[in-house]
Amino acid sequence: MESQTTFRINIIGAGIAGLAAAVALARKGHNVTVYESNTELSELGAGIQLQPNATRILYRWGLQDEFRKLSNEPSVMKLMRYSDARVVGEIAHNPQQEWEYGFPHWQCYRPDLQMLLYDAAVAAGAKVQFSSRVVDADVDKGIIILGDGRREEADLVVVADGIQSRFRHLLPDNADAKAVTCNEFCFRAVISRELMESDPETARLMKGEDSMVWSGPGVVVLGYPVSGSENRRYNTLISTPRPCDIPVGRWGEPGDIQEAQGLVKDFCPVVRKLWSLVAADDCVKWTLGEVPKIESYVSTSGRSVLIGDAAHAIPPQAGQGGGMSLEDCAALGEFVFAATNVDDLARKMKALQDFRQPRIEIIRALAHGNQSFMTLPDGPAQQQRDQLWGAMTAKWKAELAELGEEGIKAKPRPRPVPGNAGDDMRSPESREDMFGYDVFAEATKYLGTLE
Ligand SMILES: Cc1cc2nc3c(=O)[nH]c(=O)nc-3n(C[C@H](O)[C@H](O)[C@H](O)COP(=O)(O)OP(=O)(O)OC[C@H]3O[C@@H](n4cnc5c(N)ncnc54)[C@H](O)[C@@H]3O)c2cc1C
Repeated sequence: MESQTTFRINIIGAGIAGLAAAVALARKGHNVTVYESNTELSELGAGIQLQPNATRILYRWGLQDEFRKLSNEPSVMKLMRYSDARVVGEIAHNPQQEWEYGFPHWQCYRPDLQMLLYDAAVAAGAKVQFSSRVVDADVDKGIIILGDGRREEADLVVVADGIQSRFRHLLPDNADAKAVTCNEFCFRAVISRELMESDPETARLMKGEDSMVWSGPGVVVLGYPVSGSENRRYNTLISTPRPCDIPVGRWGEPGDIQEAQGLVKDFCPVVRKLWSLVAADDCVKWTLGEVPKIESYVSTSGRSVLIGDAAHAIPPQAGQGGGMSLEDCAALGEFVFAATNVDDLARKMKALQDFRQPRIEIIRALAHGNQSFMTLPDGPAQQQRDQLWGAMTAKWKAELAELGEEGIKAKPRPRPVPGNAGDDMRSPESREDMFGYDVFAEATKYLGTLE
């Protein structure tokens, strides 16, 4: 449904947050322009997980059929010992998550998701201007200045310029709000179908859709296929909790393939084989970072608002970085829709921060709680973790056998404890809070409390 009031809205950045904001706002009839400094959509990036709270949003926007063609639907995440690939646990993804939370769990290639959102934004009437770096802004007047000297004014500026945001510090009390390193870095690579199929062991990984985790002491390796069947490739990542010299927010730094292979030298043959397929030019090194809780998402006047990584990049261990951006944008669409004029829009943007920030901080706590879990050194804590994974797996498999699809759908839902979920993302309450969250319903409820 279109808004009663049409606003002029400028968005800085055509990443997942900027493009999703354009979809959410242009669908409601607003006059939206996105300014992106790159000459085209970035081809960089590897896999991204979208959990049911995020895929719900793509369904609401009618993008599910297109997205399904670009994504993979893993049935489980396999948790394995690094040395012999013994499976110690499985986390249920599809179809159980859809039965429990109403929507599937998808994994995709980041540039594919970006392209899908770009097409949807343009189809909804948004304009996207490439080679348009925003170099300055008057965040209180809703003015942006472009590198070529153009000055554009809007009712609202949506700042979606990523983890190293150039404009975050202009908002009240954000002077010291900076991205920080998580003291963890990754090597990542995307391997072509041909290469994966050139070896029987890696070919097996390519056949299924499941995501794989090989947990070792101080090093964890992830792998899963990305992109639809026609263009299928394999996404893999080595992550190790130690500092590195690459600044946070640099996504395309070349990695030393020998250093990467050295990290997995004690891993099982399939992991070593996987990383032997990675060409030196395709190995990328990446520092994990976050933006700790900041004071302001919104300018004093309410004419500028931060979303996505610019506002709150969180560590990836909850698999919710992209999800939180999509939720921001879905909420933004609802809050702008509820605004009756420019003054009211400013009020609604302030309310948006109060609505979004507690949710982000809950998910951040869950990500932090999971941070060192995958890389425990061999010993009692690791054995306890593996037993926990085994017990969790036995429990959901027994439940599945006993209840079946209809029984699982009808099962009473655990009660999430918003704001108090703790930091254990494995508890049913946390999972309900994370995956069962309906941003549209929650936004409507929240807006109802404002009048
Ligand atoms: C190239 C790249 C690769 C990534 N790879 C991965 C990955 O493999 N796995 C993963 O989980 N996450 C990855 N991320 C991060 C992930 O996309 C984000 O965490 C999440 O999707 C939120 O995105 P965002 O739109 O807030 O920020 P971003 O994805 O960082 O997008 C910000 C956009 O703003 C543009 N921009 C910045 N400054 C300006 C300016 N002054 N004027 C105009 N435009 C500007 C940037 O060019 C970029 O397109 C990547 C991000 C980028 C940019």
